[in-house]
Amino acid sequence: MRVLKFGGTSVGSPERMQAVAAIINDSHRKIVVLSAVTGTTNVLVEIGDKLAEGNKAGAVAVIENLYEHYKKFIATLYKSESSLEKGKSVIDKQFAVIRSLVDVPTTVIEQRILVAQGELISTQLFHHFLTEMGRKSVLLPALEMVKIDHDNEPILSFIEEKLTALLAQHSDVDLFITQGYICRNPKGEIDNLKRGGSDYTGTLLGAAINAEEIQIWTDIDGMHNNDPRIVKRTFPVREVSFNEAAELAYFGAKILHPTCIRPAQDRNVPVKLLNTMEPSAEGTVITNNVSDRAVTAIAAKDNITVIKIKSTRMLLAHGFLRKVFEVFEKYKTPIDVITTSEVALSMTIDETSNLEAILVELEQYGVVEVEQEQSIICIVGNFSPEKSGIVLNLLTCLKDIPFRMISSGGSKYNTTIVLKTIYKVEALNALNEGLFEWK
Ligand code: ASP
Ligand code: MG
Repeated sequence: MRVLKFGGTSVGSPERMQAVAAIINDSHRKIVVLSAVTGTTNVLVEIGDKLAEGNKAGAVAVIENLYEHYKKFIATLYKSESSLEKGKSVIDKQFAVIRSLVDVPTTVIEQRILVAQGELISTQLFHHFLTEMGRKSVLLPALEMVKIDHDNEPILSFIEEKLTALLAQHSDVDLFITQGYICRNPKGEIDNLKRGGSDYTGTLLGAAINAEEIQIWTDIDGMHNNDPRIVKRTFPVREVSFNEAAELAYFGAKILHPTCIRPAQDRNVPVKLLNTMEPSAEGTVITNNVSDRAVTAIAAKDNITVIKIKSTRMLLAHGFLRKVFEVFEKYKTPIDVITTSEVALSMTIDETSNLEAILVELEQYGVVEVEQEQSIICIVGNFSPEKSGIVLNLLTCLKDIPFRMISSGGSKYNTTIVLKTIYKVEALNALNEGLFEWK
């Protein structure tokens, strides 16, 4: 059995939905996970924000505009009157939920109900579309299968139990459709796996049933060795290990949701990254295989803040790091890159909503400095302790570019550089030209 996840642009128009129907038209038994139609989640977030600000008229205008968008969408999607009727009742039903939230006080609970509507709409519309084409499919309710715990972590055993039972109920069916992104929390409320979380749903379901493979369909041809929007030339990387993919996704490669690698890796289910615009292209496969390449790929992440703490006392005396890290833990702020010296410690964060409070608390342990508008560049490859020369190569590429931090040896798979964002483009291009073999 396979799990195929299609992102927002892959179901972004009636034509794209038709293309998805063609892609899934083979003999493999499969679960198809869909995102919301492109742009919809952003608009639903906007509606929630307007309601939270008390701007009801503004929210209603956005809601009705979105409703009109879907009316046009279904008018093009379906051929027969009866299918159009079904599509109409889907959007009427889900927009009734949306409209019902205008006159109640808006809390995070209502906002989560709002943002869940996108996937509920796209999956039902697609299901009716398949029916119109004469293809039998069954809708699986993500809200009954996917649950997160008190730490917002998906509970794989729960998913496994529910999904296995649902599939067993339909042993004669070979095509299932479900919603990415949405789930329930321990209180039973509607919740979600955070923006971009449909990928995560895909790998969780794939892991839960030990799928033969998980396919993540987007609108680019697999994972590239560098960001094609920034550097002059890139190439798709055909094979990446789970560890490499995890580092790349975490440190900026936009193609995958950072936490989605884990479930697939734990159960050793290969993940393929494929392109809906070019279904026969090879894409990228992520497995446990390790390549012998020196450098696999480079990714970058902006809006990084560097916090440096300098102590006059013995900084790294035992217990010091714990005290510093506890401050970050208290404010649920993850630290990404760390470098240390005997008297100072530099750390990066990208979640800055509690920055002021963190700084105040850190000041009791030393002199604190903050630098913003920094970027992390993550170079992924074979940095194992047995190899020599790769760090030299990358520093040679950066010989004319000042950087703030370098961290190597944290894992065998990456070295990270932190520099001012104004140097990022130059650095990415220099690394790109110097670290890969260009014929
Ligand atoms: N629709 C959600 C979002 O836009 C989830 C996803 O597309 O992965 O973030
Ligand atoms: Mg996505």
